[in-house]
Amino acid sequence: MAKIPYKIYLEESEMPKQWVNIRPYMKELPEPFINPATGQPCTAEDLEPVFCHELIKQELNVTDKLIDIPEEVQAFYKMYRPSPLVRAYNLEKALDTPAKIYYKFEGTNTSGSHKLNSAIAQVYYAKKQGLTSLTTETGAGQWGTALSMACAFYGMDLTVYMVKVSAEQKPYRKSVIETYGGKVIKSPSTTTQVGRKILAENPGTGGSLGCAISEAMEVATHTPNCRYVLGSVLNHVLLHQTVIGQETKTACEKYDIHPDIIIGCAGGGSNLGGLISPFMADNLEGKSDIKFIAVEPASCPSLTRGKYAFDFGDTGKTTPLIKMYTLGSGFMPSPNHAGGLRYHGMSAILSKLYHDGYIDAVAVEQTKVFEAATFFAKTEGTLPAPESSHAIRVAIDEALKCKESGEEKTIIFGLTGTGYFDLSAYKAFNDGTMTDYIPTDEDLQRGFDTLPKVDF
Ligand SMILES: *Cc1c(COP(=O)(O)O)cnc(C)c1O
Repeated sequence: MAKIPYKIYLEESEMPKQWVNIRPYMKELPEPFINPATGQPCTAEDLEPVFCHELIKQELNVTDKLIDIPEEVQAFYKMYRPSPLVRAYNLEKALDTPAKIYYKFEGTNTSGSHKLNSAIAQVYYAKKQGLTSLTTETGAGQWGTALSMACAFYGMDLTVYMVKVSAEQKPYRKSVIETYGGKVIKSPSTTTQVGRKILAENPGTGGSLGCAISEAMEVATHTPNCRYVLGSVLNHVLLHQTVIGQETKTACEKYDIHPDIIIGCAGGGSNLGGLISPFMADNLEGKSDIKFIAVEPASCPSLTRGKYAFDFGDTGKTTPLIKMYTLGSGFMPSPNHAGGLRYHGMSAILSKLYHDGYIDAVAVEQTKVFEAATFFAKTEGTLPAPESSHAIRVAIDEALKCKESGEEKTIIFGLTGTGYFDLSAYKAFNDGTMTDYIPTDEDLQRGFDTLPKVDF
């Protein structure tokens, strides 16, 4: 076998033509979503007013292992994919580790992250259904950007509710979204009933993803030919992101790479779920024994300190109930937290896999994350997104363990995006003003107190 190149690029012909649905492989399925009004599992009809038809079918599909990627979506993917699987030779050398480190780099498109993989699929289905406008939320701004690119491509109107603190930390994100024709509203806002209520109860709030979701959903359900789209957490989003894992797996097979550990950052779980799904399918069928690690911020620790419970996906308590690891829909992350990944809950699929012991989880503090980010930037050249840097932190920690033990493990991590819009966070780190905040048990209890009192 020839030396592994620095960058492995697949041929266009080797790109996936189907997405991998992990649910049919699971020994036990995640709990279905519950309609809070009836206490019964959500039907497709329950979801129709909010979501696009085809996406609901994908959301509820627990039987088909493979789902065709429409040819138009495959064609769009070819504009910026396949993404490279990079061998981090320079990082290995700098760490003096016997470990072999690879990263799958999703930052090669203008949105700067993996979010475009799902955005283009979601807008394609909305257009096909004859819809004319979409609403969404965005936290750090990558999803809003990706969606505005996809909406521009298909000529759809887009309104983005952007978490207020992020909009203020990253004013240029707004400009990118507007360049692609999207409209940006800082959330919470006075444009919706739920926004006005949240503002009345919490006048100084910097907002949260949960608030922005409530606002975007309210507008979608009150506007003709409009639907709401979400960039993470939901099953269909995770499904679309499996292009990441499939390309990675094909590259591994082509170059005889056998990962021992696969690491990803976890906000709502879509990149991690997408990266690991094809490998997890093998683990579940007893064909491999790869260790999967989800990395989350210590300031928003849904997997490591949350409860596995039915909860709302938004602060306004308007979504179906999802059984997931959650900090409670009323949880507000500390305003000094700069690293993204601020959602209170976690993908139902990943939550179930974690609950059943198929995934490990680690929480890391943001100064440690930015230490890893700058080390990576200096050795591998790419300025990573703070979110992605959570995975870098743990990949470095695992590689350092290999240095101690002398084990030559193969580590793959997801480098989900670039950090060019996160320079205020890098500035705080460089100036030494960045602090760590770990919620106390009492802080978390305030979030848990907002969990719905249900027992299904
Ligand atoms: C949105 C985002 C994440 C987190 O979302 P997941 O759904 O957990 O993948 C991670 N990294 C980047 C760069 C993002 O934009």
